[in-house]
Amino acid sequence: MTLFPLPAFSDNYIWVLHDGQRALVVDPGESDEVLAWLADQRLDLDTILITHHHADHTGGVGALRRATGARVIGPADEPMPEPLLRVGEADTVSALGLDWSVIRVPGHTAGHIAYFCPDVDGQPLVFCGDTLFSAGCGRLFEGTPAQMLDSLTRLAQLPGTTRVCCTHEYTLSNLRFALAVEPGNTELTQHAAHCAQLRAGNLPTLPSSIWLEKQINPFLRTHVPAVAQAAGAHEPGAGSDTVSVLATLREWKNNFK
Ligand SMILES: [Zn+2]
Ligand SMILES: [Zn+2]
Repeated sequence: MTLFPLPAFSDNYIWVLHDGQRALVVDPGESDEVLAWLADQRLDLDTILITHHHADHTGGVGALRRATGARVIGPADEPMPEPLLRVGEADTVSALGLDWSVIRVPGHTAGHIAYFCPDVDGQPLVFCGDTLFSAGCGRLFEGTPAQMLDSLTRLAQLPGTTRVCCTHEYTLSNLRFALAVEPGNTELTQHAAHCAQLRAGNLPTLPSSIWLEKQINPFLRTHVPAVAQAAGAHEPGAGSDTVSVLATLREWKNNFK
C-alpha cells in the first residue's frame, strides 16, 4: 500500500491510499488535481471517505463520483453530497481489502468521524480530518470543549504506532503555540526544529503518530501539570480540570499570533 498526501488549496492534504491499481481518497475538497494525479499514476478510484461536511473536504466529491463511479462514504448525520453510504460509531467499512472502523469524534463539527485501520502493511493508520492536527486540534465550530476533549482522548487511546493523517498542514503554526504553552518540553523543541527543516524543503510534516502527538500536542496533554499551569497563568481560574484546560488552550490559540 502506498500512502500519499496530495496538496490542495493553500494548506489542505487530500490523502490517497492505493495498492498500485485501486485508490481511496479522503476529504477531496477539489477534483481536478485528484483526477490528474490518478491518471498519471494509472489508478482507479475505488472509494471516497469523508470525515465532515466542510466544503474544503467535500467540494470535489460530486465531480469525482461522476468521473470515476467511486463509492462515497461519509458521516451519518452531517449535510453531505448525496448519494453516499452514511456511517457512524462502531460501523466498519471495507475498502481496498482493509477494514476501517468508524470513530465518532465531534467537536470541530457535530458529526465529525474518523476512520481507523489497525493494519495497513503491518501498521495502524487513522484518517482524522480536522479533529486532531499535529501539535494542535480543530476549532470548535459546532461542539463543546468537553466533546473535543473526549474525541481527542479516544484518538489518543489508539496504538502509539498509528500513523496520524490530518487534513491540514498547520504543524509549524501549531508548534509555535505549543512552545508558548510548554517551553520546557524538549521533545517539542526537537520536533519543531525537525518540522522547520521539512517545511523549508517543502515536504509534509505528516503523517504524525499517536505516540509523538502524546509527547508534543498540548491538546492531548491537558492532564500534564506544566500544561495545566500554563492554562491557569493565561486565564486565571482555568487549569483545575482537563475540560477547562482544553477550553482555555483553544481560546488562547484562536488569538495567538
Ligand atoms: Zn473542517
Ligand atoms: Zn478543513
